[in-house]
Amino acid sequence: MKRTSKEVTPETMPCPVCGSESWRIVYGLYVPDVSVEPRKVEFAGCCVEIGQYTNPVTGEEKYGEPEWACQNPECQHKWL
Ligand SMILES: [Zn+2]
Repeated sequence: MKRTSKEVTPETMPCPVCGSESWRIVYGLYVPDVSVEPRKVEFAGCCVEIGQYTNPVTGEEKYGEPEWACQNPECQHKWL
């Protein structure tokens, strides 16, 4: 059971800073159903890091919860 990437939200994004694989941040007490499919997500629990995030590509500033987290430990860039 493999879905095409066209009909679902992408699971990963390239980091706009370093190009590493970045995972979607999931907030709250979401429990992954690993019997369905493994998902590459970063669980932030209830620790929502609301703040100012600047898009390094467009320079656009956004305020809110980051949606993506770079999985490169030396980068850890988050954005929304
Ligand atoms: Zn990065």
